[in-house]
Amino acid sequence: MKEYLHFINGEYLASESGRTFENRCPVDNRLLGMVSEAGEREVDQAVVAATTALKGPWSQLTQAARIALLNKVADRINERFDEFLEAECNDTGKPRALASHIDIPRGAANFKAFSETLANAPTESFQLDTPDGTGALNYGHRKPKGVIAVISPWNLPLLLMTWKVGPALACGNTVVVKPSEDTPATTTLLGEVMNECGVPPGVFNVVHGFGPDSAGELLTAHPLVNAITFTGETKTGENIMRAASVGLRDISLECGGKNAAVVFADCDLDKAVEGTMRSAFANCGQVCLGTERVYVERPIFDEFVSRLKLQAETLRPGRPEAEGVNLGPLVSQKHKAKVMSYYDLAVSEGATVVLGGGVPAMDSQLAEGAWVEPTIWTGLAEDARVNKEEIFGPCCHICPFDSEAEAIALANNTPYGLAAAVWTENTARAVRVSAELDVGICWVNSWFLRDLRTAFGGAKQSGIGREGGVHSLEFYTELKNVCIKL
Ligand code: NAD
Repeated sequence: MKEYLHFINGEYLASESGRTFENRCPVDNRLLGMVSEAGEREVDQAVVAATTALKGPWSQLTQAARIALLNKVADRINERFDEFLEAECNDTGKPRALASHIDIPRGAANFKAFSETLANAPTESFQLDTPDGTGALNYGHRKPKGVIAVISPWNLPLLLMTWKVGPALACGNTVVVKPSEDTPATTTLLGEVMNECGVPPGVFNVVHGFGPDSAGELLTAHPLVNAITFTGETKTGENIMRAASVGLRDISLECGGKNAAVVFADCDLDKAVEGTMRSAFANCGQVCLGTERVYVERPIFDEFVSRLKLQAETLRPGRPEAEGVNLGPLVSQKHKAKVMSYYDLAVSEGATVVLGGGVPAMDSQLAEGAWVEPTIWTGLAEDARVNKEEIFGPCCHICPFDSEAEAIALANNTPYGLAAAVWTENTARAVRVSAELDVGICWVNSWFLRDLRTAFGGAKQSGIGREGGVHSLEFYTELKNVCIKL
């Protein structure tokens, strides 16, 4: 059985308290190993190690040397691809075909993309006239922010963690990562890679545990943490914001969503069905950017519903490594209970169940896994809870609309504002509608097409701040103005 230890100051260690918790595979609920739960002592050790490393050899590296080191980290993840892949698939149950295409390669790429951004990012400069005529020169100078706490979720564990760690380290910070309690494996493995590549001890640290009354809360409350970057639920984001307010620490919050797709009658229907199929069901619906509300213009409503149903019926659940499998389980029994409660709620709120709505019959070994059926509903009222609350499962509600203005109003009728997808072949409409949607990311005739140089983040209750490209520099560095009187 595996033991998942903390990675502090370049070494693996267990908690002094001896406290552990189980890590189970959601495919069949088998026990994968025991995870050490960090207490005050381990969190403090990790933060102190990160603070000390800020002034150590890490700070002496030139930007080029730091970037070369991070490129090496990316290469080493790719060399150990199969180990990362197995660890991620065990923790999440997701199909290997998906993780080998998205999670691991993009998880590695995050160390390269930000290095290039940093190497090419200019800072501002202004010349100022002064009364004596000699003038003054102002220029921007960026410094690392310090110790960054990284709190990450379970849906894309490696990818979403390196999305933060990559730019944080590229900018010269040090990090303490608290991965989700459900997916400790790949973050732990990354410690080995850091050592193999010669990243100085204390630059990358990992503590395991839960949120409240555990490692997450201890880390965000630690006074030596200079900034906190978080991905997860909006409610957790509020708690983290409260913790960060003590000492006025900076935060970057990437939170939940209740994302809409708007499908106009002038769309390419093949593309719209294929894209919505991915946005609703990829990763078993556990993608923050995924679609849970689909609005379809009335003339194509019936055809869209029946074609999406036909497509969703081809989803094949099974073991991650099995040939042809394209649907994994949910991440845990706890999450399954949450998603199933919404499946029941949809029926009691009056939904027509077009597809699914239950638990699939799996063979005996998999029967204990966190499986749920891909599910499509129609007929719910706009204010039904199923239409309002984030479910984070393989499900969507489809509703007809009659005009562009109505579609925009429906899509914006949510406290969330993460992402949207608009399906139309009319370019003027695409530009008009995407401008009106209250979201951080809007796709037109596509979904999940990501350019790492672009801004990423949520509007309204989906988050605070933007990361990606130069926007990551805003969070991970402190911009200082130097004014030289000439
Ligand atoms: P979560 O909020 O339950 O947990 C996220 C992390 O926060 C975990 O590591 C958890 O242990 C930790 N945590 C919980 N309470 C804490 C506290 N009080 N203090 C410090 N840490 C705490 O989220 P989850 O269930 O792991 O992930 C699913 C959620 O993440 C969904 O809402 C999804 O939309 C969101 N998400 C958002 C994005 C985005 O980019 N906007 C990306 C992926 C997931």
